[in-house]
Amino acid sequence: MAKINDNYLKLPGSYLFSTVAKKSSEFAAANPDKEIIKMSIGDVTIPLAPAVIEAMHKAVDEMGTPEGFHGYGPEQGYDFLRSKIVEKDYRARGIDLEPDEIFVSDGAKSDCGNIGDIFSVDNTVAVCDPVYPVYVDTNAMAGRAGDFIDDKWSKLIYMPCLEENGFLPELPKEKADIIYLCFPNNPIGVAMTKEQLRPWIEYAKENGSVILYDSAYEAFITDPEVPHSIYEIDGAKEVAIEFRSFSKTAGFTGTRCAYTVVPHELKLGGTELNALWNRRQCTKFNGVPYIIQKAAEAVYSDEGHKQTREAIEYYLENARIIRESLTEAGFTAYGGVNAPYIWAKTPNGMKSWDFFDKLLEEANVVTTPGSGFGPSGEGYVRFTAFSTRENTLKAMEKIKNLNL
Ligand code: PLP
Repeated sequence: MAKINDNYLKLPGSYLFSTVAKKSSEFAAANPDKEIIKMSIGDVTIPLAPAVIEAMHKAVDEMGTPEGFHGYGPEQGYDFLRSKIVEKDYRARGIDLEPDEIFVSDGAKSDCGNIGDIFSVDNTVAVCDPVYPVYVDTNAMAGRAGDFIDDKWSKLIYMPCLEENGFLPELPKEKADIIYLCFPNNPIGVAMTKEQLRPWIEYAKENGSVILYDSAYEAFITDPEVPHSIYEIDGAKEVAIEFRSFSKTAGFTGTRCAYTVVPHELKLGGTELNALWNRRQCTKFNGVPYIIQKAAEAVYSDEGHKQTREAIEYYLENARIIRESLTEAGFTAYGGVNAPYIWAKTPNGMKSWDFFDKLLEEANVVTTPGSGFGPSGEGYVRFTAFSTRENTLKAMEKIKNLNL
């Protein structure tokens, strides 16, 4: 008889954002007269940049001609995009990478989830708490997380990110083989400076660990002390894989394009992880559509860059409005300077889900409960800055008028 992967049976309830969506749609159905403002899932609202659309149209037309038609592309991505990424995202910042160290994909979510394929199930994994749930759930699915007992996975190392440590993780006391770091951070919206990141590289070198560095929000960095890539730190190429995405950088959440950097220098027991990831992708992935990669390439053109930067500035301004309005309304709010997320403390020690319900029912604003991101997220809710300006202002007005 066929057997299922019973690690799936250990997973608690449904995915966080499905629960949030279910609660808000039930509230909407019961209250059809109420306007509900979503500041929960981190999805963008500004349409794709004109330069991106133009490149896409052109690529669509090419696909209709015998000379311009593209069938299966390279699993790792077309060279025109890999070279552009190397030139604009890395060499321009003094980081020397080659195009064959870049793997173009359909999303940082898939890459963060799939990367586990190239690591033994015996590795000990460390995650921040709270954390982007994909790192935890995919390790649980692979059997690397143990059992889910009292809101925690028995085999994971949790690195609490709390108010008292500036919401930054501390180096694990135990030996962690794989460490997930996400900066600028989702969900807290804080970032690490180069100086704060350096000890992690040293730790990884000393312990033979690999850092999985999720830099999906790199485009939101405003502080010059915050590195845009982990490879800005000396030695990081020997210990880190970096994930980047066009989702938040250029509004590609529905268009789907991202990339993962696996430097040749990163080796375990003499084996290059680049070769393993290449093997994995060639076997299980058939590449991102030509039309989409052309659209992504256009993000790096002068016009594309200017237009996508405008969108990021708009979201950063929303973040400022949220942070300042919440503070004015008497809340304690963090993040939102180098990231599109604001992490707000619940009033009077309320539980995250209770405050989520109060915001939904009394202000008609949907947030994401901090506890959904891990036990140390209890007592917080996350706001995203990806709404429209109009909705952001409306939501803040309603929250200011809340009876606490
Ligand atoms: N990594 C982090 C930290 C995220 O917050 C998200 C999306 O919200 C992703 C990755 C997913 O990116 P993509 O749209 O490229 O799959």
